[in-house]
Amino acid sequence: MQCKDIPDETFLDSVRKTPTTPGTTWRMRWDVQATLETALGPIPDNLFLAKARQLHRKGKLGGCPCGCRGDLHLPKECRPNPHCCGQ
Ligand SMILES: [Zn+2]
Ligand SMILES: [Zn+2]
Repeated sequence: MQCKDIPDETFLDSVRKTPTTPGTTWRMRWDVQATLETALGPIPDNLFLAKARQLHRKGKLGGCPCGCRGDLHLPKECRPNPHCCGQ
């Protein structure tokens, strides 16, 4: 399985469907990964993060695509505070 085997929309749908951490727009990436796996089957961590980075580069995904912080959200949910995407 490769990045191209995960459709952008399927990935972003999983972000949408995954419940947020209370009081934030953040979904923890392992929760998003679990949601995505219910749609596509098991996905290795490195593939999940590679796909997240790809979408982040295209501006379709906000949050931490490298996995250090572990939060993901849709770009339109980005909050103008220093704890969200560092801006
Ligand atoms: Zn990070
Ligand atoms: Zn953000």
